[in-house]
Amino acid sequence: MGTHLSRTVAQGLAVMNLIDGKQMEALSGKRIDVACPSDGKVFASIPASAVEDVDMAVQAARRAFDEGPWGRMPAVERGRCLTRLGLLIEQHGDELAALESRDTGKPIRQGRADVTATMRYYEFYGGAADKIHGDTIPFLDGYTALTLREPHGVVAGIIPWNYPLQILARVAGAALAMGNTLVVKPAEDASLSAVRIAELALEAGVPAGVFNVITGYGRDAGAALSAHPLVDYVTFTGSTATGTAIQQAAATNNRGVTMELGGKSPQIVFADADIEAALPVLVNAVIQNGGQTCSAGSRILIEQPVYERVASALADRFSKLVAGPHDADLDLGALINPMQKERVAGMVAAAEEAGVTLLARGTVASDAPSDGYYFAPALFGSVDPGQAIAQEEVFGPVLTVTPFGDEADAIRIANSTEYGLVAGVWTKDGARQHRVAKRVRAGQVFVNGYGAGGGIELPFGGFKKSGHGREKGFEALYDMSATKTVVFNHG
Ligand code: ADP
Repeated sequence: MGTHLSRTVAQGLAVMNLIDGKQMEALSGKRIDVACPSDGKVFASIPASAVEDVDMAVQAARRAFDEGPWGRMPAVERGRCLTRLGLLIEQHGDELAALESRDTGKPIRQGRADVTATMRYYEFYGGAADKIHGDTIPFLDGYTALTLREPHGVVAGIIPWNYPLQILARVAGAALAMGNTLVVKPAEDASLSAVRIAELALEAGVPAGVFNVITGYGRDAGAALSAHPLVDYVTFTGSTATGTAIQQAAATNNRGVTMELGGKSPQIVFADADIEAALPVLVNAVIQNGGQTCSAGSRILIEQPVYERVASALADRFSKLVAGPHDADLDLGALINPMQKERVAGMVAAAEEAGVTLLARGTVASDAPSDGYYFAPALFGSVDPGQAIAQEEVFGPVLTVTPFGDEADAIRIANSTEYGLVAGVWTKDGARQHRVAKRVRAGQVFVNGYGAGGGIELPFGGFKKSGHGREKGFEALYDMSATKTVVFNHG
């Protein structure tokens, strides 16, 4: 099993679904070609699963939940399976990082960072599995009331292409720790690592049928999975529009959902901030993963007195950024696919046509393959907060900077989009740090920093159109379970 992927690389990697512990072709036999974003060349293929494949995977997960050993296994044993999976991921780190960066176009160091975070998720949830429990509740005389934390049952995980390993890990880590079984549908553009992780999970002792992966298009496999009546809970990370479609599908069965959707996250820089410390963080927050990050810090709000200084320092840094192939490990890689590149380019062109000032552009490495999906980073200055480029999620390496007058103005602009995922606040004034952190509407607020290196332990999720439910940390375990109240009348 461990050599499955490496053996097939030379021939063009032909990945299979993993259903009930077995590798399976889609029943139709249809496959989807997988291209490397760095050069546009097809190097792999995945099954194009449809309704009947989804049904087979859900039935397997259902049986594994209703009849298998997983639910009855002591929590500590389930936790040990996840801990072993984390160790296997560490052992296979180079293979997984190479696979992920080739599949997504991300620089290899980002692939390695993703593997480290992935390992940490399974380590964290492996350790947490036996440390979550219910309560006893003071109730009427003659009664004892208690709560049990029960798994939902079959969890469907619909995963995006930007951080496939990490996002799968936060879903699977929490869902499996609580005793759920899983059917995962990775994104058609980046499915390879999910299949590999499910193989490693079998090796780690997760029973067959507990962790199933089916690949395919969202409109076919994804839609069938989110509407399947034997699925108990649906968790999704991806675009806001797709999140709405998935919630509508899940609503046909009245199922619960966790939605981790888009963002237009602000970073607010006050005049008293340590600007030299802030600058590299401000740039990295939007350049990491080519800006294809839901929590990207894509709007910078700068207090008037330091506006010129910060904007010109950012322009200087932006003009030196270089995009190139994943294995060249430059500032950023290619975007995921040609549609995404076109979308980002269209939004940048529209902003220029609307008269927004382009302050700086990075470059694409001169030796980057011409068929790769590269986009040179763009920085816009003096941006009116109402402009589309300052309101809509670009999901690319595009940053806007906007001046503000005072603290109230900053908070008003920060909260003026439809999103509410993450925010950054840069100031040395302690009272202001607390005030702004409370008033900014975002699921995470970082003070004098941003992103906190993966933050496995930190609850994460959105307000407004950024979604609902919380992932990461201990809170994900509550999302992936439900309270059962048991009342004893003992007189
Ligand atoms: P993008 O539009 O950039 O592909 P999405 O948010 O649509 O991003 O994709 C995230 C995940 O959602 C992918 O796994 C994709 O296949 C899946 N998906 C897309 N459309 C649907 C849908 N209608 N129902 C279920 N899943 C979907």
